[in-house]
Amino acid sequence: MNIPKVIDDVVKNNLCIGCGLCVYKCPSKALEMKWDENGFLIPVLTGNCDLIGDCITVCPFNPFPEKEVETENELAELFLKNATLTDPKIGKYLGVYAGYSEEFRLTSSSGGVATFILTDLLERGIVNHIFSVKESSAQGAHYEYAISNNKEELLATSKTKYYPVTLASVFLKIHELEGNVAIVGVACFIKAIRLAQFNEPALKDKIQFLVGIICGGVKSSFYTEYLSEKAGVPSKSCFKPSYRIKDFKSTAGDYSFGCYSNIDNKKKTIKMNPLGDMWGTGLFKSNACDFCDDVTTELADISLGDAWLDPFIKDGEGTNIIITRSTLAEKIITDGIKLKKIQIEQLPIKKLTSSLGGAYNHRQTGQSYRIKRILKTGYLMPPKRFDNDNKLAYDLRIIQFLRMNIRKMSLNVWRDERNALIFDRRMRSQLNLLKKITKLSHYRRAIFTKDFVKKIMRKIIR
Ligand SMILES: Cc1cc2nc3c(=O)[nH]c(=O)nc-3n(C[C@H](O)[C@H](O)[C@H](O)COP(=O)(O)OP(=O)(O)OC[C@H]3O[C@@H](n4cnc5c(N)ncnc54)[C@H](O)[C@@H]3O)c2cc1C
Repeated sequence: MNIPKVIDDVVKNNLCIGCGLCVYKCPSKALEMKWDENGFLIPVLTGNCDLIGDCITVCPFNPFPEKEVETENELAELFLKNATLTDPKIGKYLGVYAGYSEEFRLTSSSGGVATFILTDLLERGIVNHIFSVKESSAQGAHYEYAISNNKEELLATSKTKYYPVTLASVFLKIHELEGNVAIVGVACFIKAIRLAQFNEPALKDKIQFLVGIICGGVKSSFYTEYLSEKAGVPSKSCFKPSYRIKDFKSTAGDYSFGCYSNIDNKKKTIKMNPLGDMWGTGLFKSNACDFCDDVTTELADISLGDAWLDPFIKDGEGTNIIITRSTLAEKIITDGIKLKKIQIEQLPIKKLTSSLGGAYNHRQTGQSYRIKRILKTGYLMPPKRFDNDNKLAYDLRIIQFLRMNIRKMSLNVWRDERNALIFDRRMRSQLNLLKKITKLSHYRRAIFTKDFVKKIMRKIIR
């Protein structure tokens, strides 16, 4: 492949994540975000390309970034100067916590800390506008980025949407807005915003705060179609999909998907657990996510995720894991604790990283194997921070291979069939194989842990 010069080269390199910052950056206004055949948003050339290549400078998956902003590490040095602590797994930080917001927990996906932080920023007058995700008014899209100017508008944007969204439309309006902005986004979107701030210093003042959503992968719109069919609503009739319906009386992981049908205006729901593993398998995921090694959204002022951890996981009302990376983020959290607006406790880093164990195994430990395979097929790869392919055990390599295959196959099969029964049947053998090998791999790793060997040695010596 030729050295990429414009964003279309990133799209052809199959690494576009749909953030849309290229659309904002294009001096000729020649790009528009459109749906591709796999249910993702991508930039499409609708005017004359000037070939200057400004678009690619803000791309989080630009294969040849400038040295000063080569990876998340360089960007963190530039943008998170007050984060005095560094950890190889979570990046630069000030504090690590777990907890929830008293006011927003029940109307949010985890502990409601994202909505708490954003409300607080508005109330303090630090920002006047929030870019976050709400129901879309556009035909053919369930959700989109929107601009909220007050608490009431903001509340309509709470909750996690496992659905492709783009920053393009809101970013095109950023300079028309009076006052400052805060933005919520997943890791690659936050990286794109940092690259835009690096290229255009005026954006550093304009965008005062970034709320980072810890992300296990961006799903295609096919994911919503599949879940809707599983819930008993034909995907074309589905509206208001809801991905994280809590069961307050159960555990945090025991949530449901639900959506309305425009046939009878009734809501149907389905528990997610019986549907199987939707995340570790790679189902319906963007290819770019397989080449993102930023597990905790390292470039945001604050990073928020789900506390998949004891004892929090037992509480169906939901709890966040929280990493503060700027003094303002740390102040909002400590003030919130003092005023009893949030119930938060400090969390050892080891506990936080154990909540994200699967993500570290896939995104950092297993990444080099995937990169090697991709490079062999002639695709290009941006510089990455983790390289341990030679140390990766054979069972883990097979797991990586199967996940890559399942990811691609799930998109192809859904595109062809659009039927959940046929989809399940066609995916079954690959998913079963992955399940079996993953189980064997767990046994193998348990046997070779130090604790296990010590136990055996003690028995022999006795
Ligand atoms: C695609 C995706 C994958 C995720 N994977 C993981 C994971 O593997 N592990 C983990 O610990 N946490 C993950 N999360 C984060 C988790 O689901 C919660 O969003 C997070 O814990 C914040 O919860 P909250 O209750 O504080 O948020 P809320 O108070 O409910 O607010 C959520 C905020 O996120 C915004 N938002 C919703 N959807 C999106 C989106 N697609 N893109 C950008 N912003 C959005 C909303 O507009 C709102 O501002 C994921 C989130 C997303 C969107």
